[in-house]
Amino acid sequence: MRQIQMVDLQTQYQNIKSEVKEEIDKVLDSSMYINGPVVKEFQANLEKYLGVKHVIPCANGTDALQIAIMALDLKPGDEIITSDFTFAATVEVVKLLQLEAVLVDVEKDSYNISLEAIKKAITPKTKAIIPVHIFGQCANMDAIMDLAKEYNLYVIEDTAQAIGADYHSKDGSIKKAGTIGHIGTTSFFPSKNLGGYGDGGAIFTNDDEYAATMRSIVNHGMGKRYYYDRVGVNSRLDSLQAAVLKVKLNYLDNYIAARQKAAAYYDNFFADMDGVQTPARDSFSSHVFHQYTLIIDGLDQFGLQEELNSKGIPAMIYYPLPLHTQKAYDAEKYNDADFEVTNYLCKNVISLPMHTELDEEQLQFICESVKTFLQK
Ligand SMILES: *Cc1c(COP(=O)(O)O)cnc(C)c1O
Repeated sequence: MRQIQMVDLQTQYQNIKSEVKEEIDKVLDSSMYINGPVVKEFQANLEKYLGVKHVIPCANGTDALQIAIMALDLKPGDEIITSDFTFAATVEVVKLLQLEAVLVDVEKDSYNISLEAIKKAITPKTKAIIPVHIFGQCANMDAIMDLAKEYNLYVIEDTAQAIGADYHSKDGSIKKAGTIGHIGTTSFFPSKNLGGYGDGGAIFTNDDEYAATMRSIVNHGMGKRYYYDRVGVNSRLDSLQAAVLKVKLNYLDNYIAARQKAAAYYDNFFADMDGVQTPARDSFSSHVFHQYTLIIDGLDQFGLQEELNSKGIPAMIYYPLPLHTQKAYDAEKYNDADFEVTNYLCKNVISLPMHTELDEEQLQFICESVKTFLQK
């Protein structure tokens, strides 16, 4: 059996090696390492794939969030509501920009931001909501956009884990994750569903004005060359990463299908096992399985993780601690009782290996190993 990885980028690379090398060689031969033509090509291909008017490449997914928030022109102390059950990047940038991050609880089944919790958290200072499409499935965007309209709020979708997911809107249209809110952001970190061989990120919008503002922000706030209209940052996707991503974008739908196939195997195996909850699917979203995460009631998470590791199976706890308990994010301002679901999830979830190269032999071994532990 091939060695099991949490994300098997090695095997994936072997399968696309010649194409990737060819594109990388083109960049090396051109010596246009920054803003080479391949960056524009990848940008155009991604715009087409997502069906969005503007893609603005940048240096990573955290920058993408920061730049999106900077484009909204908010005032210090303005509030942004986001999910308690996510990677820290989402709240970090809010705080960095002197804005107030307001963490709220998530839905039990989807682990996505809770609508009820958003409603309760809205104040006159609330200016934006950042739903995170966690683990690869979209939050309830129709309902979030309705709320945003009612309260005049911006919506930035954090699509770092869900690029390529389809959102089925109540008007019958199908849109790609990240193209529904005012702005969408993503990450091309190597382990993400569309990952480069280094850091990278992008911002999406259908709005010409936000797009122009964000293009200026990523380039030091420049409008016309050497005329600075605003304070910006330096955030670029380099040509080598764009070359890799251009090749991998052509495979994204196949990669998603491979993840879904592995997820179906897990689903099937764990379907009838007592106390084990497989990932729920919302009718309005496809699931692109950035992670395959089980909820196991009363689980000894670290015990299971250790036993799997001892058999050569990696497994991760995403996320072991709720963000509302973290010192950096104003833990003292929250009431722990408002985070019932996140608190529960952090204690009872485990993410199994999930990537594009899992074969049946590996899947079976992983499943049987989890079962053995649970039946002890
Ligand atoms: C990975 C990730 C980010 C940050 O992306 P980087 O490219 O690592 O900066 C932001 N939000 C979520 C939900 C992520 O999973």
